[in-house]
Amino acid sequence: MVLDVSLNLIKPERTYQIFEALVGIARCDPAFYVKRYDFVLGVYYIGGAPNGGRWSTLIKALIDTPRQITITALEASQIPSAPGHNATIRATGGGFTWRVENTSESIVYVDVTDADGKHYLMPDTTMTKTVYMPLPLILLHELSHVYHDDVLRDSPTEILAREKQVRNDDNAFRAELTLPSIHPAGDVPVQHGTPTLGDLTFPACGSKKPRNPWRDCKKCAIATAALGSPVTRQIAAFRSAKRHFQEITLGSAPILAPMMNSYRLFSPRVADAVSTDPALRDSMRHYGVQAAVHLVKLVQALPTAASEPDEVVGRIERSLGAYATDLAAAMPIMGLGEAAEAALSASRQLARRSELPPISTRPPSCNPFASIVNSIQSSGADPEGPAWILEGLGMYMRHAVDWHHDAPGAARRLMFAAGSWLATVPLPRDAVLSEHLRRELNLIRAELLFDVIARKLLMRRLIDHWPDSAVLRAVLETGDFLSSDDASRSVSSCQPI
Ligand SMILES: [Zn+2]
Repeated sequence: MVLDVSLNLIKPERTYQIFEALVGIARCDPAFYVKRYDFVLGVYYIGGAPNGGRWSTLIKALIDTPRQITITALEASQIPSAPGHNATIRATGGGFTWRVENTSESIVYVDVTDADGKHYLMPDTTMTKTVYMPLPLILLHELSHVYHDDVLRDSPTEILAREKQVRNDDNAFRAELTLPSIHPAGDVPVQHGTPTLGDLTFPACGSKKPRNPWRDCKKCAIATAALGSPVTRQIAAFRSAKRHFQEITLGSAPILAPMMNSYRLFSPRVADAVSTDPALRDSMRHYGVQAAVHLVKLVQALPTAASEPDEVVGRIERSLGAYATDLAAAMPIMGLGEAAEAALSASRQLARRSELPPISTRPPSCNPFASIVNSIQSSGADPEGPAWILEGLGMYMRHAVDWHHDAPGAARRLMFAAGSWLATVPLPRDAVLSEHLRRELNLIRAELLFDVIARKLLMRRLIDHWPDSAVLRAVLETGDFLSSDDASRSVSSCQPI
C-alpha cells in the first residue's frame, strides 16, 4: 500500500477528513465497496466488478504503483512545502502536488478547510456562473495529476495543457455525479463564495444497492455470511458477549482488542468466500459460528464455577449435548473430530508454533479454518488474536467429541481447559500498566479466571512481559489476585484418589 495519508498530529481529525474524501470518491464507483464496522470504515476493491469505472481503476493504479504517494491535509493559510513554492494552499486553489525530484515520491497537499469555509469555486463551461469544488473533487483532481504523470505517463509538458487534461477527468467524474461541469481551460481562476450553479454538497453515492446480500451486515461479518441473515439468535449472542467483555481492560487497552482489530481486517474476506461457496458456508456455520456461540456462552458461565462448579459442569453438559444434536441433524460434510483438529492445526499455523503442511487434504472449501488462515494471511491481519480464538474452538470441539464418546468427565475437563485457555489470552499490544492494574486484574479474575491455576498462569505471563513493573510487583505482593477461594480445582484433578 503506497497511497498514504500523513497523520496530522496536531489536528488528527484533519487526517480523517482526507479519508472521508477518499471514501466519498470510492462510494461513487461500483468497483469499490465501503463498509462501516464498529468504529472504522473499510474500502475494498472488487476486482472485475461489472460496472467498475475509471475512478476505482485510477485509485487502484495509484495504490499498486511503486511510487510513494502521500496525501497531506493543510489549513487554508499553510504553504505546501516544495522548493520555490511560496503561495498558500488557498491561493493555489485548494490542491497542490509536489513530484519530489530524484525520488519516487509524490506529495499531494489539499486544503481540508474549504478555504476557511469560504468555499472553492470554479467557473462553469460558459464562464458566466460558478460551481463548487468540494474536497473529494479537489483530491481527485490532484490524484489525476499523479495518475497521468506516473502511471499513464501521458501528461503534456506544457502546464496549461496538463491542467486541461486533468479538468477533463474532473468533468467526467462530475458528469457521473450529475454535477455541473467546470470550464475545461487550464488557466481559469479559482474563486470563493456561494456557487451560482448547483449547490455546496457532494453527492452521497452510498445509496447504491449492495451486490451481495451477505455483505449487507454491519457487524459479525463471518457469522452473518455463514448464517445468511443478520438477525439470528447466534448474532445476538455475539453482540451480547461483546458488550459484556468490552468493559474488561488490561493496561488500559480492551482485552478484546487483539481479536477485534484482526477480525475487522480479515473477516470481509472470509465473508466473501463464505457467501459464494455453499460447502464452506455449511462448515463455517457448524464449526466456526455454532462452536463459537457455545464457547462464548461457556466463558460467560465460568465465573460461577468458583462457587458453583457442579452447576457450571451441568450447563456445559447441556451445551455439549445441544451442539451434538444440532450436528447430528445437519450432518455436515466434515466430521466434528476432523473439524476440531483442523481448528487446532490452523491455530498452530497462525501462531507459527510449527511449520505445517496444508492443514487439510480436503478441498479448502470444506475447511472453514483454512479459509480463515488464508484470509488472515492475505489481509495482513495480526494472527495472534485469531490463533487464540481458533485454539478455543478446537478445545471446545475436542471435548464435544469426548462427550459424544461418553468419555467420563468431559464437561468438567472442558471447564478447566477453558479456564487455562482464558489465561493465555493475547496481551493487548498497546497495553500500558498503570495504577488501575489492581482494579483491572480484579475484574479479569471475576469475569474470566475462576481458578487459581489459571490466575497463576496469567500472572506468570504478565511478569514475563513486564519484568520491571512496580505496579505489577505491588499487586503481586498483596497476593489477593492469586489467593485461592475456589474449592473446584481440589474437587476434580487434585483430589486424592
Ligand atoms: Zn491541477
